[in-house]
Amino acid sequence: MNYIDLALEEARKALEIGEIPVGAVIVKDNKVIGKGYNLKEYRKSVIAHAEIIAIEEACKTIGDWRLNGAEMYVTLEPCPMCASAIIQSRISRLHIGTFNKDMGACGSVIDIVNNRYINSYIHINWLYNEECSKLITDFFKNKRNEKKLYKKVMKK
Ligand SMILES: [Zn+2]
Repeated sequence: MNYIDLALEEARKALEIGEIPVGAVIVKDNKVIGKGYNLKEYRKSVIAHAEIIAIEEACKTIGDWRLNGAEMYVTLEPCPMCASAIIQSRISRLHIGTFNKDMGACGSVIDIVNNRYINSYIHINWLYNEECSKLITDFFKNKRNEKKLYKKVMKK
């Protein structure tokens, strides 16, 4: 199985419980050492993003906070908080499913992962994955429709 498909599986777990569907998987030496999906609402925690959860699990798995040589597969471009955590964890390579035009911190809005002012460099592999893109756009489309429907119902 492709690792981005595994990250998508994680993202769908978030979707099932009404979270913004984002999933992340960390691989080292061809082994999954950490994975996670967005749990912000469930945990009522602003830091419970898929990437942070995956990093924490990976560090626990290998017993070190240094994830040198590890690669992350994530369905959506990380936000500034997660991009910073990815730098701090020393993850070597980042495979990104699709762009995040609102919060993307790997080049779409700002670039934290390759930034000479903070001396960061991570190899980025853009996957242009249609499933990743569809998952997130469908989620927000449905949210908007729900809101419209709610307003309609409330007017009656
Ligand atoms: Zn994030």
